Amino acid sequence: MSKYDYSTQCIEDDDIDGVIEVLKSPFLAQGQKVAEFEKALCTYTGAKHAITFNSATSALFGAYSACGITSGDEIITTPISFVATSNMFISLGAKPVWCDVKLDGNIDEKCIEKLITPKTRAIVPVDFAGKPVEIEKINSIAKKHNLLVIQDSSHALGSSIHGKKIGSFSDMTIFSFHAIKPITTSEGGAVLTDNDEYAAKLRLIRSHGMVKKELWHSDMVSQGYNFRMTEVAASLGITQMKKLDRFIETRNSIASYYNERFKDEKLFSIIKIDKNTKTSRHLYPILLAPQLHSFKEEIFKEFQLHELGVQVHYKPIYQNSFYKETFGEISLPVAEDFYTSEISIPCHQKISMQDAKYIADTILNIIHKYPR
Ligand SMILES: *Cc1c(COP(=O)(O)O)cnc(C)c1O
Repeated sequence: MSKYDYSTQCIEDDDIDGVIEVLKSPFLAQGQKVAEFEKALCTYTGAKHAITFNSATSALFGAYSACGITSGDEIITTPISFVATSNMFISLGAKPVWCDVKLDGNIDEKCIEKLITPKTRAIVPVDFAGKPVEIEKINSIAKKHNLLVIQDSSHALGSSIHGKKIGSFSDMTIFSFHAIKPITTSEGGAVLTDNDEYAAKLRLIRSHGMVKKELWHSDMVSQGYNFRMTEVAASLGITQMKKLDRFIETRNSIASYYNERFKDEKLFSIIKIDKNTKTSRHLYPILLAPQLHSFKEEIFKEFQLHELGVQVHYKPIYQNSFYKETFGEISLPVAEDFYTSEISIPCHQKISMQDAKYIADTILNIIHKYPR
């Protein structure tokens, strides 16, 4: 751990008090907190249903299962994501068709249509770093070809387009509440949808496919699992939701400071955010110029030596051994260029303006040692 991690949780007294209250209550599982957190997610995003899970990974699995993704289906998705985005439809026997990205790390909507075949079932984009994808364009491609859009918005709780929050732009939207995501329940995730049928299926998948009847009677009506969120986790979710906008404001003010400090940089570039969108700023990526690519490891190590807990997001999913062995060698030029140039620098709600100044100074000092 470094002094300034690229992201971290922010747990305050009310979060702790809420958890203690749950621990002293009769319900650690299947009480009222989960329902209350789900309601808060709906109120905040405007989505009709929110179904929590014990991780975004199980939420993705639930979403893919609920809409019937199955063996032989093809899913068009982004390689610049955490492996879980693809892993969960692989588990269902579906095949990933990775689409190249743009220079902001988001799926390139202009490349989607030529990947569509009769087997294509869904498009699964990721709002990388919290910056919303071009969802209207993706939706219209999907509509034209009768495909589903499932948005992995694990980075993007609180992001919005024209003032409308991410959560109900697509058939289903997934959020992660892992420790260092925009808010945390320690581990946790959710699927948001306006579709009643998917919502009912998601609730069954989450809890053994069982429905309760009178007295001791219950019936298992479909395949299911235990993917439920605990009451302790949901309590954290409830208190964290109240701070989400404050967290985002802080991350955006740090990002604006970095933008100003880095605006004339020639040795690396930053990602522009359109005026009509708001980003959760889950990550603040910098992209090294080509002449620095061969020095990336050196630069990364030097950042670490100066207490910057940097990270790289992400190795293209298809470059992992499992995927190479299963699907063979694949190469997408922009995704690879993005991976070669990207470093996520510290940007989170516990960084002060003074810290941000130290971080920006340190980055500029280190980078400027290299040849222009
Ligand atoms: C974190 C993350 C996941 C997985 O989330 P968990 O809650 O850790 O299971 C999936 N997709 C993306 C894009 C993520 O960043």
